[in-house]
This record gives sequence, structure tokens and C-alpha cells, in this order.
Amino acid sequence: MLYQADWLLNPGSPPVRQGWLRVEGGRIVETGSGNLPEGPSKRFAGCALLPGLVNAHCHLELTTLENALEPGKTFPDWVRDLQGLTADYKLPDYRASARAGIERLLRGGCTTVLDVGNSGEALKALAGGPLRAFACVEALGLDPAHAESRFGNALSLARATEATDRFRPGIAPHAPYSCSVELLRSVIGYQQSRGLPVTIHAAESREEAALFASASGPMQAFCKRIYPRAPEHRGTTPIRWLESEGLLPDGALVIHGNTLEDRDMEILARREATVVHCPSSHAFFGHPRFPYDALRAHGVPVCLGTDSLASADSLSMLEQMRLFSKNHPEVAAEEILRMATEAGARALGLGDVAGRLAAGLQADFILARPDGSGRHAMDDPAAAVLASGTFIEQVLIAGVLA
Ligand SMILES: [Zn+2]
Repeated sequence: MLYQADWLLNPGSPPVRQGWLRVEGGRIVETGSGNLPEGPSKRFAGCALLPGLVNAHCHLELTTLENALEPGKTFPDWVRDLQGLTADYKLPDYRASARAGIERLLRGGCTTVLDVGNSGEALKALAGGPLRAFACVEALGLDPAHAESRFGNALSLARATEATDRFRPGIAPHAPYSCSVELLRSVIGYQQSRGLPVTIHAAESREEAALFASASGPMQAFCKRIYPRAPEHRGTTPIRWLESEGLLPDGALVIHGNTLEDRDMEILARREATVVHCPSSHAFFGHPRFPYDALRAHGVPVCLGTDSLASADSLSMLEQMRLFSKNHPEVAAEEILRMATEAGARALGLGDVAGRLAAGLQADFILARPDGSGRHAMDDPAAAVLASGTFIEQVLIAGVLA
């Protein structure tokens, strides 16, 4: 089947007018522009055809918490509210939440996701579903005496689902302040031994920075309440501490990274890590300005994630791109497109699978219809896609309509 649109957008390449793709057996086998070759075809006038969006951070099992939590609180207060709201959640609630979240991801143009959850239900919802997915069960616990059991529990939940060519179950540590060194070592070691992505929340909030700088502030107090012998760090940062403990593997995905310092970025560059920025969640908490320019100057790739509806108002990746563009108007639309596609795919180890439109890759792509897509709107097609009112008309994963 041939697919043609007014524009074909590919990260790192100029937009192609009247671009087309030929899809066979779920893969892109040929791309071109202008007159279509022989064969069955679908033409999408007024649309741009672009790679499916890669959501590098999500918690699908929290989708039903939409608008349930108050913005602008400190991170420890938010966690306490979240724990209160989910105290009575049963497994079917998490499963239903994850299913609703998957629908939302698709509507927002996502074709690949790295999801993190605690119940294991998101893995069941994602397994066999349309999305290309890495789904991790999250492990946390500061008491080293519980490290083995927490690791074992997360692993057994992950192993309840089987890997397919599109779905990979795994585990993830929550954060450097919420896990013991022993637990971090086990979880990270497991992911590495399986060739799976290592993802960890780090350098998210001012409170987390204070915990590592001076063992002070509400986050430190929160950790002490949970585990009275919680470590008391001084003169460091989450990234420097992880690095000093040998817990920042090459190619790691660092979620948030809002409070990164220059020295942190040097470490991340050396480790070829990727920072996952979640614009909606960032706005919800009022975190310090995301250091995009400094990361770029250090050569650290940045990709995008939605986070969950417990701290974001949208699971649309297109919306995350739009919000990023609003907050960083100096960044070209093409660069934002790359963050949401190729950069995310590479961070997940899927650089040869998805994230671009090229022969040999999986046919994961979307058709986006900018609002009022007349000649004016489509003069700069990437910017037109990011403008408000763009509608995702079709989402195809491995050549199949999702
Ligand atoms: Zn998260």
C-alpha cells in the first residue's frame, strides 16, 4: 500500500512536498515524492505524514486521576495526595486506567511508549495491544533489608507478561532518593543484562536537589518518615550521586532533569544518557525552567514524555510538543519533531526500528491535519502541525491502523 500526503516530515530532513511511502509486510520499503508508482494507494490531502510519536515516559495506570490532584504543591505533598487517592484502588481499576490511557496515547499520535507502573496491570493492558511498548514495573524502597524482596516482587509482576516483537516487559527503579543502593543495583543490573532500557526519575524538583545538597527540606523529611535511617547526602546532586555509586549506566533515560547542573550534564554526556522532558507535568509542579539550551550545548539528547494524568493535563504527545514550543519559542519546530520521534526511539534502543520514515524501518507513522490547512498554514509544515487545532487523523503501527 502507498500512502501520500501534502507533506512528508522526517526528522533531520527538509519537508517533502507530495511525499509518499510504500508499506509492505508492516515495513516501509520505499519513500519518494511526486507522482505515485503503480499500486493501491491512499492519498491524504491537507495532511502531513510524519513518524509516530515516541512517548518516553508515562504511567498509564494513573490515567483515571485526571484533574484529581491539585497543581503547584511540593512533590512530597503531591505524593501523599496520590497515595491517599489510590489507597482503595484494586487491580481492575489500574487495568481500566491503563486501557483508557492507551486510547489517549493513540489519539495524541503516539505509536511507541515506555511505561512505568507499580501494579503490573499496565503491562497486561499493553501486551498484545497496538502500541510498540516497553513496560516496566517500578521498584522502590529505601530499606536495604527489603531490596531483595522488592526486586523479586517487581520482577515477578513483569514476568507475568511475555515479550513479543512489539512488547517488552521489564522493571525500573523509581528514583535515587526512594531506592536503596542495593535495590538500584539489582534493578539496573537486570535491565542491562536483558538489553532493556534503564529509566529512572532524577533531578526532578527543588526538594530533591536539597535532599542531595544538604540532607534538608521536605523531601528529606518525607524519606525519613518512610525509613528513619534514610541516607543523609551532602554536597552532591542526584546525578553525581548515581554516578559515584556506579548506578548511572551508559544510555540511561533520565526522567525530568529539571535541576541539572553543568557537572551533571557533563556526566550525562559522557554516559550518552538521554533526558526525558515532560512539559505538562513540569508545568503542573512549577519546576525550575527546563535547561534545554544547556543540555544541547553539552550534547545531551532530549526526548519527550507525557508523565501521567496525576500530574499532567494531557496524554497527547502532540500537546507536549506544542507546550514545549510555547515554552521554548527559540527552538525550531523540526527540532521538536526530532525530540518526539527519532530522539525517543534512539533512547529506547529502537533507532533502527522506528522514529523515522525510511526504507527498512517499521511502518509506524501518523497523518496529522493542521487546522485550516490552506496554503498559508502549510508553508512551514512542521510549525503547522504544532499549531493548535491539529487533528491526528490516522495512526498506523507496523502498517496497521491503530
Ligand atoms: Zn514518572
